[in-house]
Amino acid sequence: MSRTTETVSIPFHRASVGEEEVAAIAEVLRSGWLTMGTKTFEFEREFANYVGARHAVSVCSGTAALHLALEACGLQPGDEVLIPTTTFTATGEVAAYLGARPVLVDIDPITLNIDASIVEDKITPKTRALIPVHMAGQPCDLSELHSIARQRGLHVIEDAAHALPSEYKSQRIGSLSELTAFSFYATKTLTTGEGGMITTDNADYAARMRMMRLHGISGDAWKRYGQHGSWFYEVMEAGFKYNPTDLQAALGRVQLAKCDTLTDARRRIAERYTAAFKEIGALEPPAIKGDRTTSWHLYILRLRLEELQINRDAFLQELKARGIGTSVHFIPLHLHPYYQKTYGYRRGDFPIAEKEFERCFSLPIYAGMSDGDVEQVIDNVTEIATHAKR
Ligand SMILES: *Cc1c(COP(=O)(O)O)cnc(C)c1O
Repeated sequence: MSRTTETVSIPFHRASVGEEEVAAIAEVLRSGWLTMGTKTFEFEREFANYVGARHAVSVCSGTAALHLALEACGLQPGDEVLIPTTTFTATGEVAAYLGARPVLVDIDPITLNIDASIVEDKITPKTRALIPVHMAGQPCDLSELHSIARQRGLHVIEDAAHALPSEYKSQRIGSLSELTAFSFYATKTLTTGEGGMITTDNADYAARMRMMRLHGISGDAWKRYGQHGSWFYEVMEAGFKYNPTDLQAALGRVQLAKCDTLTDARRRIAERYTAAFKEIGALEPPAIKGDRTTSWHLYILRLRLEELQINRDAFLQELKARGIGTSVHFIPLHLHPYYQKTYGYRRGDFPIAEKEFERCFSLPIYAGMSDGDVEQVIDNVTEIATHAKR
């Protein structure tokens, strides 16, 4: 394959952090209070306000957020939780933490989200909850899923690790279900290095999660036993060590203030990608349904393999050789050894997820990309697709 384009170096991701973040963290360090404190509570209020939820509970990771959300619903050993097979393992492992069973569901080939039309077929008397994952940032069919959940008495916990900020029928993700879990992992649209948040309108859930994130220690004890002084506490449950630090919160507050600007930058990149790639027969840009918006956390491009002489892996090798970083989201859970040995899943169980996995990959999309970087990605992808045309 000839290379007319110069070799560049465009990593798959670079966190969008700058001097403001550095200053915010330095301020916390100088204050002498390093763990969870007032900065965390301010971040929670601002976050709840941003997504339009009554309560936001900050934790140390998106996985912890999902775990505490399921725990707040009272999930028991033997219960079943419906999740898409196309997701990160965190969505399934949190069910396993509680002795529950993650029950996998195939995806919609257009959105790559859980196929709402087959969810009902998977419901058994043991089904208690449903965790829709908003792949790449595009919201799931929440009206359909909420209606099934209402009729069948299921909890809905959204895995919104990709969906800050995304909207469904003009409402922000985080304000729509019983519980919504966000991730602030290093590559996510808002990052605190590691971190997570759960939003809910339910005060009981919020109180339970605040207690369980810090060893099951009751926050009420200080109020009830004030006369004992500030050293008094009561342990109500075997909780977890899931609290965040004020260092993360300080970073998160600066990032939240930039969230809309960073999203605009990603949207402009996505628009340029799509305008270019829709002209190439072998490339299939993402399709976003009309009643929702995406955060553009990921830009997932798909190959029409029947029009190419090379497969997805060879395509990515070629991009790598040209200095362009890519990733693949996600290897379906039912193809992983743990899910096969524990739950008996096998290759062939979810044909749509497998087919889409074989032909998808994620391109760089972050505010730090220059116009030239975007141009380089477009030129190289176009060139590889054109040269490899069948
Ligand atoms: C990142 C991610 C998580 C977990 O978040 P962490 O903060 O890394 O624990 C959960 N679900 C999905 C779909 C993710 O991409």
